[in-house]
Amino acid sequence: MITKIIEEEQIQKASKYIEKGKSFAIVSHVSPDGDALGSSLALSHYLKACGKEKVFIIMPNSFPSFFKWMPGADGIINFERQEANALRRILKADVIFCLDFNAAKRVNDMSKPLLKAQGRKIMIDHHLFPDDFCKVVISHPEISSTSELIFRFICQLGTYDLLSKEMAECIYTGMMTDTGAFSYNSNHPEIYTIISELIKKGIDKDEIYRKVYQVYSEDRLNLQGYVLYKKMKVFPKAQTALISLSKEELDQFHYHAGDSEGFVNMPLSIKGVTFSAFLREDKNIIKVSLRSTGDFPCNEFAARFFHGGGHKNASGGEFTGTLEQAIALFEEGMNAFNPEIWEEKEK
Ligand code: 5GP
Ligand code: MN
Repeated sequence: MITKIIEEEQIQKASKYIEKGKSFAIVSHVSPDGDALGSSLALSHYLKACGKEKVFIIMPNSFPSFFKWMPGADGIINFERQEANALRRILKADVIFCLDFNAAKRVNDMSKPLLKAQGRKIMIDHHLFPDDFCKVVISHPEISSTSELIFRFICQLGTYDLLSKEMAECIYTGMMTDTGAFSYNSNHPEIYTIISELIKKGIDKDEIYRKVYQVYSEDRLNLQGYVLYKKMKVFPKAQTALISLSKEELDQFHYHAGDSEGFVNMPLSIKGVTFSAFLREDKNIIKVSLRSTGDFPCNEFAARFFHGGGHKNASGGEFTGTLEQAIALFEEGMNAFNPEIWEEKEK
């Protein structure tokens, strides 16, 4: 039915660790998105269905409120707010799953305890170039979400029957959010075979869409209007658009985590724009989000200018300094990066 893409040796090792383990920690990346949460929650429900009682999800910081409905989300430990509890769970775990990230630095301050922890680490992820800090590395950049990998993992363990409606809801959420509701990175035919299986497990995919995408506050919509009307700079020759928001502007619209989700994708709906950037002033840094369509490698751009990385069409990074300096660096990068492409466009 579905191609067995995970190597049998990895499945065997992971299966042995799960069987022998008594306590489990599941960790994912900072600013958890739908895929980080979906893959972690699905796996946690799965381990509990396997009879494991001590299963804890620890995230480096908080997640957007529109994911709070996800089954099990209320039990997630937030490292920033419950550090002592989080540390205990990580350091005491027999097995630690690292989901939806490829390098320890992606969990921010949690990286030290994560690297120090003696539990056997299993990475399941879809970002390029995984770092070498896990005993088992299940890395598939060709797959569009880690949640899809969790579905495949459960199937290859021969335990499809254990897959519950709760797990299916979490998996679907991650698959949906990492593909912009199946509008990019979503041409693999097996995605739809899997969705079909999830629906058979009882999920209501339309309701999940509504719960994630149609729950905005009035403030968020006002912010969106402000961004599009006042803050979007288009560089037609470079096929690029840039949005930036200062802390002051965010405060003006009573910004909450997740309120700017999706902003970076909006300029890509302009005909001719193939590269879009969003710079947001955060506590001590400028958070950078990049998106592209076609061949433009935003992960290379993020790595070269903003200490980041990610996927070819969706990447991110950070900048230390002022928003103005970050904008200047972005424009410098835009002009310098792959000059052949831009020169060609100038003609
Ligand atoms: P977003 O723009 O949604 O925050 O991130 C999109 C993708 O870019 C993420 O899935 C992740 O792969 C990557 N990414 C975002 N921020 C960073 C970062 O600071 N460092 C690295 N290495 N990757 C990032
Ligand atoms: Mn992901």
